[in-house]
Amino acid sequence: MSSAAAAPVPRYLLEARGVRKSFGTTEVLKSVDLLVEPGKLVFLIGPSGSGKSTLLRCCNRLEEPDGGSIIMDNVDLLSPRTDINAARRQIGMVFQSFNLYPHLTVQKNITLALRKVVGMSTADANARAAEMLALVGLPDKAASYPAQLSGGQQQRIGIARSLALNPKIILMDEPTSALDPELVGSVLAVVKDLRDRGITMVIASHEMNFAREAADKVVFLDGGLVIEHGSAENIFLRPQEERTRRFLAQIR
Ligand code: ADP
Ligand code: MG
Repeated sequence: MSSAAAAPVPRYLLEARGVRKSFGTTEVLKSVDLLVEPGKLVFLIGPSGSGKSTLLRCCNRLEEPDGGSIIMDNVDLLSPRTDINAARRQIGMVFQSFNLYPHLTVQKNITLALRKVVGMSTADANARAAEMLALVGLPDKAASYPAQLSGGQQQRIGIARSLALNPKIILMDEPTSALDPELVGSVLAVVKDLRDRGITMVIASHEMNFAREAADKVVFLDGGLVIEHGSAENIFLRPQEERTRRFLAQIR
């Protein structure tokens, strides 16, 4: 056997199959598959309460699934033998409410985990923060506090913070839902740029125009089930299922 043989490249970076989750007697995810190829932008759409957030949270075990399997880059996230904290470091998370530390500067918000979790020196962490700030178009905001920034800028800092850890995938839960309409575009432009750089992302969002233009794949969730999935073109222009058609008609 050749020692130069490369490890097999998995077809999916994230492979969640048959994921189930109940809260009490409410079955929120009934058996959901979410398959994400490396470098792709997957959009998760569906009505409020359909289980989008729960699915994303199961994918980094912020919620504990009741069943199914979740494989991230060949690592079984649900195995008791998996070091979940190590695995979580490979999974970036961006929240609707930004979740920045209000008492820390932008630079400190970004460098905190780099220093405490990765063990980077302050100088290296600051350099990394500067690089990430440039990437999200806010190179001059290192010394600002979150409250001095617009919501759109805060969310771009949230994205920069997540990117700084060099995750294999970034999960975003309605990253623009808390923003005034005029600020949404700046955040979506960053997402588009990351997509063009080959960053793998799953985004739960109601930004259908953006999804149509930028998503590699769209997954429509309703009532805890994937009703339909496919290319943005197929889902938006040729939806096969009545429930998909009804949902799209409502939000247009
Ligand atoms: P979406 O993000 O699509 O709006 P969610 O995943 O937030 O949907 O919620 C799906 C369902 O699960 C909703 O009915 C919600 O009330 C319920 N739910 C979510 N989180 C919890 C929780 N921690 N405890 C109880 N019910 C929850
Ligand atoms: Mg949600």
